[in-house]
Amino acid sequence: MVSAEAPVVVMSERLGAITDEERRIEQAGAVLRRAPLWNLDEIRANASDARVVILGAVEPFDREVLEALPGLSAVVRRGVGHDNVDTDAATALGIPVAIVPDASVEEVSDQALALLMAIERRITLVDAAVRAGQWERDPSEIQRVRAGARRFSELTLGVIGLGRIGSALARKASTLYRRILASDPAVHAAAAPPGVELVHLEALIAEADHVSVHAPLVPATRNLVDDLFLGKLRPGAVLVNTSRGGVVDEAAVLRAIERGTLGGAGLDVTVHEPLEGGDPLIGEQRVVLTAHSGSWSTTAQAELRRRAVDAVVAILEDRVPNVLANPEVLDRPALRIAIDAQGADS
Ligand code: NAD
Repeated sequence: MVSAEAPVVVMSERLGAITDEERRIEQAGAVLRRAPLWNLDEIRANASDARVVILGAVEPFDREVLEALPGLSAVVRRGVGHDNVDTDAATALGIPVAIVPDASVEEVSDQALALLMAIERRITLVDAAVRAGQWERDPSEIQRVRAGARRFSELTLGVIGLGRIGSALARKASTLYRRILASDPAVHAAAAPPGVELVHLEALIAEADHVSVHAPLVPATRNLVDDLFLGKLRPGAVLVNTSRGGVVDEAAVLRAIERGTLGGAGLDVTVHEPLEGGDPLIGEQRVVLTAHSGSWSTTAQAELRRRAVDAVVAILEDRVPNVLANPEVLDRPALRIAIDAQGADS
């Protein structure tokens, strides 16, 4: 039974149904509500009384939204990428932003590899041709779409962002590719995993046949993959992005495919999500689109749910959640959560 003053926790509708896992929030004494939080109006209508919100990857919690929620003590992002939350504004307002950093490393790195393979092996193109009856009617059409496919063991993979997911991809890819290059300004050459050559971005662009992007979306990486970047790639290169849509200039990708310089692209993430029917990406068959599903597996989703709920319960019990995107908020006089003397959640 919750009291009239029970704290309210609002979970974004985008995160699916409320399960037994989320019911633990009610057992901790809060009122739990699932609601759409796609824009400021919906957030105002559905979360104005929220003490904690649980978000997916795209709900826009910018400064204006955070300022419109004076009762909000904490944000919980059910995942690692938190570019949809203005963490600087949250810090200034005393709002901790909890994240779940490593629940889907295996899945997203698998997704990147699957996209690289699908494009190099022409899986989606041949599948579409078979379904269109061309295998039967005109086998030369199948030969046309599969032309140019290369042997993996002759290719160089370039990994941009050698964090958790990029490193997992490099490890898995090391048995497939001839060479693995990586670029990451925060990783020292000596710390690169075995078999991975740490290089400057320019060298990676010049030498990689396949490029997979795993850097977060921050001001320095917005449109990192643009016309200039794509223009310097090796002919027929393949680009895969499972990080965030804003890191890749989608119009530039379409231009590079049209010019024939880019062999294909695999995009799990796009600037606009969900993609609308009229989006030019939808009309380009050499772009494989996977609907921001890179983190999906039963195991990863259960883990994400469990750890997001752990963070909410920690906040409700005046403990600091395990991982914060803005740990500096704990030193702010305006901090909106009470902190137990025990410190961080164990
Ligand atoms: P991480 O923090 O472990 O690694 C990110 C790495 O990128 C860091 O090592 C960082 O130094 C590096 N980096 C930062 N700026 C860079 C730049 N300009 N060039 C090259 N590298 C740069 O994060 P992670 O867990 O590996 O996740 C990476 C990203 O994947 C997340 O930020 C998120 O946006 C995305 N993601 C997507 C999905 C999905 O469903 N598709 C799921 C989880 C994460």
